[in-house]
Amino acid sequence: MHRPALSSLHGSDPEIARLVEAEARRQFEKVRLIASENYVSPAVLEATGSVLTNKYSEGYPGRRYYEGQQNVDLVETLAVERARRLFGVEHANVQPYSGSPANLAVYLAFLNPGDTVLGMSLPMGGHLTHGWPVSATGRWFHAVRYGVRAGDGRIDLDEVRDLARKERPRLIWCGGTAVPRTIDFAAFAEIAREVGAVLAADIAHIAGLVAGGAHPSPVGHADVISTTTHKTLRGPRGAMVMSTAEHAAAIDKAVFPGLQGGPHDHTTAAIAVALHEAAAPEFAGYAHRVVANARALAGALLDRGFDLVSGGTDNHLILIDLTGKGVPGRPAAQALDRAGIELNHNTVPFDPRTPFDPSGLRIGTAAITTRGLAPADMPRIAAWLDRALAAHRDEAVLAAVAAEIREFLAGHPMPGWSPTP
Ligand SMILES: *Cc1c(COP(=O)(O)O)cnc(C)c1O
Repeated sequence: MHRPALSSLHGSDPEIARLVEAEARRQFEKVRLIASENYVSPAVLEATGSVLTNKYSEGYPGRRYYEGQQNVDLVETLAVERARRLFGVEHANVQPYSGSPANLAVYLAFLNPGDTVLGMSLPMGGHLTHGWPVSATGRWFHAVRYGVRAGDGRIDLDEVRDLARKERPRLIWCGGTAVPRTIDFAAFAEIAREVGAVLAADIAHIAGLVAGGAHPSPVGHADVISTTTHKTLRGPRGAMVMSTAEHAAAIDKAVFPGLQGGPHDHTTAAIAVALHEAAAPEFAGYAHRVVANARALAGALLDRGFDLVSGGTDNHLILIDLTGKGVPGRPAAQALDRAGIELNHNTVPFDPRTPFDPSGLRIGTAAITTRGLAPADMPRIAAWLDRALAAHRDEAVLAAVAAEIREFLAGHPMPGWSPTP
């Protein structure tokens, strides 16, 4: 049952209520290794489901286009102040609907159509919005892309510097969606400074680690920092753009009225709650446990002969190259899902296969760490993964693994939901 129970929903729309409960149970019973996902706290769930969803608040605190902002102004001001304090930034905009619109706002603040942007290539670990051709950012801007070295799977900073000198981008992105190693923000800043580019650090994946001191901060290096709030930061679906005071007006103008209408005030409240939680001393412990779990899981996978891009991890994320295992990423991910292990197929750098059926798997430890799993549990996760993969066509083995996982996870409470009322 949800805490509180979904009693109104069961009464008015039992069909959706049943599906929500089924999803809660699914999240309870599976080892959730999708690197961008987490479990939010009951407090974040409550704020997200609050009456703030009824309000319209175009504008910013004290400068709104609608009346009745007595409470919403205070909510947004708290969210902004908490973001500034937690990350140590001069300015924060908490209104972007999600990570992709937050990144679009960065373009709108600094670039004109056709300007040059330098970002990490999607199949190398970058995000769509860093200038990939199918994204508006790759269509409306002149996008140049860097990658990782073939030898060690690390970002090739020599390539970044050479491309920056040759292409003179207005904007350089660092950070990505499948980067298992520490981002060297200082090195990117030096390159950006040399060519007069704006440096944007996209910390969508690692924001919780940065907040908890388990990954270096881009503050003091990047001109702009964009992030989602729902990945390692463990807040609601949403995003923020942070910057120095110098760029505050440009960022705010780009988010509203440049790109969006009314902010989602219920999300803003939930972001404020998540930032409050992330400022508590326990959260630093959480962030460090996420990394310790990823290191332990990577070690256990290496022991079992898995090939990891860059040979391991510094953060919450592990990229497995399945080429040597003889199973492509897509059927592997589907079989593992049936075995109670939820993850996503992913390209690996220099992938000879297609993005729809690539050679790799991406996993992360943010969600299982929230469930209370510890480094000592990681060999068991690796063993289940290995066993299910080896038997990926054997439904009996997959079902047996899923049953063992269900039993194991029953001892690890899930925030916001419990199988017994
Ligand atoms: C997740 C992610 C985004 C986009 O977030 P959405 O909320 O899915 O739009 C942007 N950049 C990076 C690096 C991400 O990992």
